[in-house]
Amino acid sequence: MNALHELRFVRPSSLDDAARELAADGAQALAGGTDLLPNLRRGLGEPRALVDLSAVAGLAAIERRADGGLRLGAMVTLAALAGDDGVRAGWPALARAAGLVAGPTHREAATLAGNLCQDTRCVFYNQSEWWRAGNGYCLKFRGDTCHVVVKSDRCYATYHGDVAPALIVLGAEADIVGPGGRRTIPLAALFREDGAQRLTLAPGEWLAGVEVPPPGRWRAAYEKARVRDAVDFPLAGVAVALARDGDRLAGLRVVITGTNSAPLVVPTDSLVGAAWDDAAAQALVTAVRTTSNVLATTVATVRYRRRMLQALARKLADDLWVESAPR
Ligand SMILES: Cc1cc2nc3c(=O)[nH]c(=O)nc-3n(C[C@H](O)[C@H](O)[C@H](O)COP(=O)(O)OP(=O)(O)OC[C@H]3O[C@@H](n4cnc5c(N)ncnc54)[C@H](O)[C@@H]3O)c2cc1C
Repeated sequence: MNALHELRFVRPSSLDDAARELAADGAQALAGGTDLLPNLRRGLGEPRALVDLSAVAGLAAIERRADGGLRLGAMVTLAALAGDDGVRAGWPALARAAGLVAGPTHREAATLAGNLCQDTRCVFYNQSEWWRAGNGYCLKFRGDTCHVVVKSDRCYATYHGDVAPALIVLGAEADIVGPGGRRTIPLAALFREDGAQRLTLAPGEWLAGVEVPPPGRWRAAYEKARVRDAVDFPLAGVAVALARDGDRLAGLRVVITGTNSAPLVVPTDSLVGAAWDDAAAQALVTAVRTTSNVLATTVATVRYRRRMLQALARKLADDLWVESAPR
């Protein structure tokens, strides 16, 4: 790891001050720092200023809305999210996804917004400066060639966040603050499937929080495959939310992570309205396979990650269907 480059460090205490600081050219948000600081110390990025959001009033709160939904501040730690009784009771898939990120000490510092906005990863990118220089850098940073898909004009680095897929199947929305004011978008629209331009935030925009609707008739679950259970990114991760009406599937949402440059929604509309049976499960597996684009961006093989993705999707949907059976 290198020493950090020269930069300005600011720690605003109000939302307005944070917005002003983050609107400045070359400013970047700092949350728990567990993703950003190791990257900067490897020479991956050179922000002129880091805007530490840890002192901004109100950003670390988990609040219950009047309609029974949740308002989650950007700086809620993953430990708080995973351990909150209300979240565990009403949105267990969200608590589980947060609780599966990295290891326990890590989750004490890591935050919701930092998790959602984390950088994409690749075996040709998450390396030391001398390693990357020796390989002529890559399309994501300083180079002009993607070493994963050599003739490509876009970067295929992979999004490995655990929390986004769970929140997307729960119908969450992102609360964004920026020079143009405040706006709310479906969380899935925060992401772009481009490893080098991974977020749709405009210059100066940042995430202030996430809104989660009441669970209603939906049951959801999240699982991931990783090498070391104690501390690893998802090599393949799947979130599923399912609504059952008697013997009919009344709704199905599936989102995958760890395999593409963004968490991706798998199309499932054709399955809704019928029973959940083996043919439906096979159709879901096919939809997962055609939506995902597993490439050699991690140390685990493409074949393993592809198969795990499909197996997890089927297992989660099977289990949720059984759990939702009328009693
Ligand atoms: C060993 C190790 C294991 C890991 N395992 C996992 C894992 O299993 N699953 C997983 O999902 N992640 C994992 N991570 C990645 C990362 O640590 C986590 O995603 C963590 O939640 C990031 O949160 P943070 O608060 O530390 O973010 P930071 O490092 O502070 O920020 C991450 C990025 O988000 C941006 N950002 C932060 N806050 C905002 C905001 N409010 N608005 C806009 N942009 C913002 C920052 O500018 C930066 O680009 C791992 C990292 C390490 C080092």
